[in-house]
Amino acid sequence: MQYTPLAINDWYLLNVVPVNVADRTASSIFSITIFLCIIIMIAIIAFMLYFFLYKKKTQDYYDNLLYVDAITGGPSYEKFMTDVRISLSQNKGNAAFSVLDIQNFNLIREKYGHGKSNEIIAHIYSVIKRVAKEGTICARRSEDSFALLLHFSSRSELIMRIKNFTSELLNSEIATVDHFTLRPLFGIFIIDDPSENIMRMQNLARMAQHSIKYDDPNNYAFHDDVYRDALMYNKELEDQMIHAFKNDEFIPYFQPKYDTSTRKIVGAEALIRWIQPNGTMIYPNVFIPLAEENGFIIQLDTLMFEKVCEKQRYLLDKGLDPVPVSVNLSRKVLRSREFIDKYISIMEKYRIPQHLVEIEITESAMLDNNTDCDSIVKELHEKGFKILVDDFGTGYSSLMMLKSMPIDALKLDKSFIDDYNDTKGSKIIVCIIEMAKSLSMPITAEGVETESQYDFLNSMCCDTIQGYYFARPMAFEHFEEQLVESIA
Ligand code: C2E
Ligand code: CA
Ligand code: CA
Repeated sequence: MQYTPLAINDWYLLNVVPVNVADRTASSIFSITIFLCIIIMIAIIAFMLYFFLYKKKTQDYYDNLLYVDAITGGPSYEKFMTDVRISLSQNKGNAAFSVLDIQNFNLIREKYGHGKSNEIIAHIYSVIKRVAKEGTICARRSEDSFALLLHFSSRSELIMRIKNFTSELLNSEIATVDHFTLRPLFGIFIIDDPSENIMRMQNLARMAQHSIKYDDPNNYAFHDDVYRDALMYNKELEDQMIHAFKNDEFIPYFQPKYDTSTRKIVGAEALIRWIQPNGTMIYPNVFIPLAEENGFIIQLDTLMFEKVCEKQRYLLDKGLDPVPVSVNLSRKVLRSREFIDKYISIMEKYRIPQHLVEIEITESAMLDNNTDCDSIVKELHEKGFKILVDDFGTGYSSLMMLKSMPIDALKLDKSFIDDYNDTKGSKIIVCIIEMAKSLSMPITAEGVETESQYDFLNSMCCDTIQGYYFARPMAFEHFEEQLVESIA
């Protein structure tokens, strides 16, 4: 009911609405409001649900990309690293980091293509999973290489498991591809300190793996054994070196350098070999680092220099026309100028014309943080020695060095020749050859192994070629024969 004063006497206008009519209107407004609220709530919930599902789908997509390996379907390498970190922090007892590669897998990939190779990789992963003990974490590291974290009770148990895996793998049909049998190679690093950098563990496991020889009966190697063996072997070699020196076991081998267009021998490099009395030949990459470490390299380099002069005298006395032979000079020798007088007196002793012996110094030795190096190289050059830059292009400041040092010729490092096939690689070779030409520096390409590499370098007018394509390093007698043939 509602009263409204009418301003006429004390009259009021009286409105009377029956209760049932008022209730009906109010309840229909109320119903509409509730209905609208429900619709809005459903819309909000639907939107939130959609948003949540969409987000999850995107998240799953990225997780999949990041944490699942596309070939094996197992964890990715990133996920593996995270899991390894967590597992090691929980300290679950004896653990080893292992890398597993298949010997010569690149040959399979080359011959059968990616489809078949990926099938084999997925199969290897499934065998690992099948024979793995609980707690093993494994993922594909790259191409055909796997990384594993293994928990074990004893070394013999670990070896047994590796053997099990190998026989399981070899028993599967896929293990023999056209008479080519898969050979898994395990490098193992036993973890002493779980907080150690995981990449270091992996590198040490890889080092062990690289020590496995092609015909080794075992397809696994432990880092500590390898390290101990290497130390013992190096110690043995060091102990034998002085005796071997007196016993004349160090001799130069000669690798000819050929004129690219005439294919005639125009020079050679003397490369040291250690030939033990039982005929075993030890290569310089084994003993040169030791000799550099203990300083014995100074005697070895001087010995090579003298032996080269002796051979040149022999050829001169025979009435032949010898070609210049270059000798390598270690960075250790370059530390002091004393050797220069010694080398000159050797040349005088054998009466060797200056142009017949050249000096190879690696680019990195020239750029050593050794202030005297500059003046020593300059003095050598002034005394008439031709200076060849060995391994040119591998250092950081190759161009700076060309400006500051008295250089006569460049030896383009083998790594460039290996890459001549890719566009960037070939462009770099072209640039270096052009630059050498504009500076009037002859250039030798090192490590040329194939006809196509030769053809490419020939078309680029590279001056000389040294590499297995023409000849490997050889004993002097053989070199002399080749020289005579080439001169004829
Ligand atoms: P380097 O001076 O760069 O010598 C070239 C190396 O490449 C030699 O290895 C040679 O045999 C090898 N080589 C030549 N052509 C090819 C090829 O086509 N393919 C492949 N894969 N390799 C090829 P070597 O004789 O084992 O010597 C290794 C290194 O040891 C030399 O590298 C040099 O740094 C050092 N060295 C050798 N003799 C002496 C020496 O008398 N004194 C000093 N200080 N170092 C020496
Ligand atoms: Ca050299
Ligand atoms: Ca070289």
